[in-house]
Amino acid sequence: MYDYDLLVVGSANADLVIGVERRPAAGETVLGSDLAVHPGGKGANQAVAAARLGARTALLARVGDDAHGRLLLDTQRAAGVDPVGVLVGGAPTGVALITVDPSGDNSIVVSPGANGRLTPADVRAASGLLQASRVVSAQLEIPLETVVETVRSLAPGSRFVLNPSPPRPLPQEVLDACDPLIVNEHEAKVILAADGAGGTDGVGGEPEDWARALLARGPRSVVVTLGAEGALVASAEEVVRVPSVTVDAVDTTGAGDAFTAALAWKLGAGASPAEAAAYAARVGAAAVTRPGAQESFPTAAEVAAV
Ligand code: ATP
Repeated sequence: MYDYDLLVVGSANADLVIGVERRPAAGETVLGSDLAVHPGGKGANQAVAAARLGARTALLARVGDDAHGRLLLDTQRAAGVDPVGVLVGGAPTGVALITVDPSGDNSIVVSPGANGRLTPADVRAASGLLQASRVVSAQLEIPLETVVETVRSLAPGSRFVLNPSPPRPLPQEVLDACDPLIVNEHEAKVILAADGAGGTDGVGGEPEDWARALLARGPRSVVVTLGAEGALVASAEEVVRVPSVTVDAVDTTGAGDAFTAALAWKLGAGASPAEAAAYAARVGAAAVTRPGAQESFPTAAEVAAV
């Protein structure tokens, strides 16, 4: 019996957002709107998304001993995430400085801060949490060696899910552990380029082709997210398209994190990959109907209403 349906190992950031008429050129200063501070980071986002759906969720992350760290801890608790694995100190909380112009284009500078100090030793120290978790989900906003240690520390019989974002070449032992590897088009291209095969060139132009090519790299299964086009689920047996749900999209920020969290939870609960992806597509669709990332994530009742 596992204590947690999902353990997310990943980043926690404060997103600092200022609206501007136009983004400044080098050496220039522009005035902007009032500052908005939002909890973010792919790890924190996934944990909030899963907990809001009703999953028993924990987060293994690192924040600074500062106001942003306290904001992140508060929002995790408010969503129902067990923050027992959120380590405090070592560096300032990770921050994304975001300017957005009236057309919606943004410029972002990320300071990883404490996320960069989440170490393999932290993972080893949290082995009780890993052993108590049915599914473990990671992304790449923390050091790669920390993700490697996570894979090595999984409980026998538990499932590992990876969204390789921001994408970079992955060690074979990480690829082999993924069930599934969850990628969008950009991430698929970077992973496929890593062995010199030239990205999706020579693989074929369709997402089905990328999914099969990714499967051949080692993951037990692959999910390709396709935005408003839905998703695609690939395993050794079959490749299945999962249609999206038609909604009025307001803001797609965090849709991938909500999708991944929902998919990971449902797979752990015994749903087939196609069923889990269909549910996750509803969660992603619900998330894009509201602005923001964590603020936009639906409850189970809201998913049912989509
Ligand atoms: P992110 O911007 O968070 O990194 P991503 O590129 O990883 O996102 P997307 O493919 O944009 O992920 O979105 C994840 C899932 O959410 C999609 O597979 C789809 O099911 C759902 N989704 C995203 N955008 C829409 C939309 N406009 N309408 C309906 N569903 C959507």
